[in-house]
Amino acid sequence: MTRIYLDHAATTPADPRVVEAMAPYWNEAFGNPSSAHSFGMDALDAVEQARRQVAGLLFCKPEEVVFTGSGTESDNSALWAAGRALAAKGNHIITTRIEHHAVLHCARFMAENGWDVTYVDVDKYGLVDPDDIRKAVTPKTVLVSVMHANNEIGTLQPLESIGLMLKRKGILFHTDAVQTAGHVPIDVNRMNLDLLSLSGHKLYGPKGVGALFIRTGTPFVPFLQGGGHEKGRRSSTHNVPGIVGLGAACSIAQEEMVQESNHTGRLRNLLRDEILKSVPDISVNGHPDKRLQNNLNVSVLGVDGEALLLNMDLEGVAVSSGSACSSGSGESSHVLKALGLPAEKMQGSLRMTTGRSNTEQEMRRAADIFTRVVKRLRDLSASGGSA
Ligand SMILES: *Cc1c(COP(=O)(O)O)cnc(C)c1O
Repeated sequence: MTRIYLDHAATTPADPRVVEAMAPYWNEAFGNPSSAHSFGMDALDAVEQARRQVAGLLFCKPEEVVFTGSGTESDNSALWAAGRALAAKGNHIITTRIEHHAVLHCARFMAENGWDVTYVDVDKYGLVDPDDIRKAVTPKTVLVSVMHANNEIGTLQPLESIGLMLKRKGILFHTDAVQTAGHVPIDVNRMNLDLLSLSGHKLYGPKGVGALFIRTGTPFVPFLQGGGHEKGRRSSTHNVPGIVGLGAACSIAQEEMVQESNHTGRLRNLLRDEILKSVPDISVNGHPDKRLQNNLNVSVLGVDGEALLLNMDLEGVAVSSGSACSSGSGESSHVLKALGLPAEKMQGSLRMTTGRSNTEQEMRRAADIFTRVVKRLRDLSASGGSA
């Protein structure tokens, strides 16, 4: 059985061009970029090229890019490190109810350590109102973190207007752009961002490598203390193959962004239309058009999302229920809760995210399987059985 992968928001396969670019850096050009000899210089050149490639994608200066170990590390560093650097100025940060756990749990940790945290609500589409952020600002506010696009429902936030308002007030602005970097145009200046997180494995690069944009002049206390790598901003010997892969992934994404989002958007729409046509009592979650091109999140009434996921997996289609991150926890998604969805819609939620290598034929097959599985599960529960 050839399987169909519809979970690109959880992770993407590394592009073969990325794998190829990384190959020499395991045991040929294996030097430590901090070493003064030629082995070290070769590795350093590769790291600096990758830095320019990441900077190119974000429209920032290469020296404003710091390589990290993941999107999670970038998010934690941004909040905790920028927050600590400004602790003398104030102890209030603002974020939203629908952030990734990498931000939410970091904010919770800060709240347990003397910080005041305000969680701004979203509307039924998952949109943040910039005015709600403005109203939450106090004289003690030092940092605001609003994700660019949500990983579950794909809703895109109005970063430009939030950024402009915060810039005027002199408050630091961080965004978790892990779902959008390489998929949606980003310009850290136009958006007035001071900090931005991205992750390799969400844009067809390797896992275990990320980047944090830190605008020049942004107060920052490093998270990791050590040898002072990355100009003291992130100690650790560089993950050279990973960094090279991240750079290559960024440069491919920048080159192919338009055609790729057309492709994944067309496939997402096809999948959505086929499903809505053949399955009754189903609704789409998230914003109708301010959303990631490749994201489809639906609620299927009378069906358990987890059962739907497992049954689709048996038929070779990989999807995500509620949230990949909280799958298995038995808790319903904090994002769907924040939308105010009724319990039944949260229960029956399913996320499908298209990607670079998906095909039209796969969408038709996935929609057929989806339709069949939903019908079977509904028949089962109507006859009193359990899935
Ligand atoms: C995946 C993801 C992260 C975490 O990135 P990792 O590199 O997996 O640690 C953070 N935020 C969002 C929105 C994500 O989708």
